[in-house]
Order: sequence, then structure tokens, then C-alpha cells
Amino acid sequence: MVKYKRILVKFSGQAFGQKGGAIDRSGVGQIVLELKKLRQAGVKVAVVCGGGNVSRWKDANAGDRVAVDYKGMNGTLKNVDALSAEAKRAGVPAVVYTSFSVNSKYPHYVYARAKKDYESGKIVIFAGGTGYPFFTTDTAAVSKALEMGAQIFIKSTKVNGLYTADPIKNPKAKFLKKISYQKIISEQLKVIDSVAVALAWENKLPIRIIKWQQGSVVKAVKGAQLGSLIN
Ligand code: UDP
Repeated sequence: MVKYKRILVKFSGQAFGQKGGAIDRSGVGQIVLELKKLRQAGVKVAVVCGGGNVSRWKDANAGDRVAVDYKGMNGTLKNVDALSAEAKRAGVPAVVYTSFSVNSKYPHYVYARAKKDYESGKIVIFAGGTGYPFFTTDTAAVSKALEMGAQIFIKSTKVNGLYTADPIKNPKAKFLKKISYQKIISEQLKVIDSVAVALAWENKLPIRIIKWQQGSVVKAVKGAQLGSLIN
């Protein structure tokens, strides 16, 4: 039995490869396997891919923010290409919609079409983040979760959840199993974008932050208290 029948899951860029490196095919295969298991469990699944393995404003020391952001958004397409190709190879039905036009490669997002695909049980992959600089794929994930009518946004990433401070820099940092939207914003916790948190708060969409490893998304969907819950 699953707790959540409708989800949006985001995989951070690191799930697709090392920063500046090539796409890791076996890593992408792991994601596809997880998506396959979710479908088999009868879960409706939308996916947002991060782009931090290609470019991320947070890591850029200087330069043109808008240019870095566009590079990051294009980076999500690189990950989406790999994910959709691997899903096809594995026989997992998946469709891609992009937030900005990429000629005839993928359709530009159309709410009614994407929603129909989501309801039909196809994996609906959203590429390109929000399509706007100064945002992140976390915000794209919350907005698409709301449009699809997902019950939860699962942010599957490299850290195992939220801490009161960076645990690498501060040994006194405490792990937070549960935290309010308000607290994340007022304490400026960095693991998730505060714009995304504000949008989720306004619409009462719970967010669970978990460490990506094979099986972790399935466990979270079944109701396991993995990582940190924001609600
Ligand atoms: N980005 C953007 N607008 C968006 C989504 C992403 O400008 O709507 C850019 C931004 O520079 C961001 C980068 O793309 O830092 C990579 O996205 P994100 O940090 O969300 O990916 P992740 O770190 O989760 O892999």
C-alpha cells in the first residue's frame, strides 16, 4: 500500500553526473528503475530534473547571473534527454514537456496535455525549470506539483535532509525531522529554495527532502519518515 498516489519527485543534478562531467548512464538507470517501481505500485508520477551538475548559480563565483541561470536551465535538458532515452530503453512510458521552446525536440508545456498524460499513468518529465532566470528547479517542482494535483513534492537530493546549520561546518548542527514552512524561510535554511517553500506554504503542499538512493523514493511514497518533512 502506498501513502501517496500522486507525486512529483525532483532528482537533483548530482543524480545524473558529477559537476562538469559526463552523464552517468548507470545513475540514470537507477532513476528509471525507481520510476518503474513507482508506476508498478500504481503511483502517478511527475518528474523535475535539476541541472546543478551542469551549472548552478550558487556555485558560480562571479559573472553574469542571467547567463549562468540559462546555462543551468539548458543543463536540465541534458539530464532530461538522458532520462527519457533510458526510460524508452527500459520500456517505461514517459513524456517530456519543456518550459521554453526547444524547436521540435519536445513539446512546449501545455497544461491540459501534461495533465492528461499524468492521469493516464505516464511518467511526465518537466524540463527547463521554470524557464526564468533567478529561479531554481525547486520552484518549478512545486509549481508543477500543484498543477498536476500531486499530494506531495519529494525532493530527492544528495543530503539526507535539513539541519539547523551546515553539519560539515558546524558539528553542533541538529537534524530536523519536521519543520514548518515559516521556519525554513525565517531561518534561511539553504537546502531548499525559499521561493519554492513560500509557494508550497501558500498552497499547503507538503515537501519531503530525502537522500537519493535506490528505493528511497518508493519508501517515502509508502509513508516512511525518511529525511525531513516540511509542512
Ligand atoms: N535555473 C534557473 N531557473 C529555473 C531553474 C534553474 O535559472 O527555473 C538555473 C539556476 O542557475 C540554477 C541552475 O539552473 O542554479 C540549476 O538548477 P537547480 O539549482 O535547481 O538544480 P539542482 O542543484 O537541484 O541540480
